[in-house]
Amino acid sequence: MYLLPTGKRSSPPSREKRVRLELKPGAVLVFAAVSLVAPSLKLALLLLASVVLHEVSHAIVAALCGSKVKAIGVNWTGTYIRREDTRRPRLNLLISLSGPLANLAIAAIAIGWLSHMNLILALGNLLPLPHSDGARAWHAISESVSG
Ligand SMILES: [Zn+2]
Repeated sequence: MYLLPTGKRSSPPSREKRVRLELKPGAVLVFAAVSLVAPSLKLALLLLASVVLHEVSHAIVAALCGSKVKAIGVNWTGTYIRREDTRRPRLNLLISLSGPLANLAIAAIAIGWLSHMNLILALGNLLPLPHSDGARAWHAISESVSG
C-alpha cells in the first residue's frame, strides 16, 4: 500500500512511475565477492546494504532533481541505475557524486571493517575508470566546461 502524506491510502503508482529492480545473472559474482571479503555473514549483509544505499542515493538525488529513474539493478560489474534525461551535466555530476557520498557517510558512522570497506567503496567509485561514478563525474564536469 502507498500512503499519501495525509495518511490517506492511494492506488499503487502506475507502471510509468515504478522503479524496476533488475537482478542480472552476473549479480551472483557481486554477492560472491562480498561474501569472500567479508569476515562474517553479518558484515557481508551490512556491506551489501551499503552497496544498496549507495545506489539508492543515486536514485533519490535523481528523483529529487526531476530525473526519472527507470531501474536499479545489479549485474556482474556491480550496481547501477538507469534513468531518463541524462543530458544535464550538472545533474549528472550531482547524481554521480551522491553514491560515493553515501558511502562516506556510512564510513563516518560505522566502525571497524565496515567503515573501512565503505571508505574503499567511496574512493574506488571516484576513480575515473570506465563506468565508474568518477568517470561520470569527470565527464559531467568536462561537458559543463565545454558546453
Ligand atoms: Zn555509484
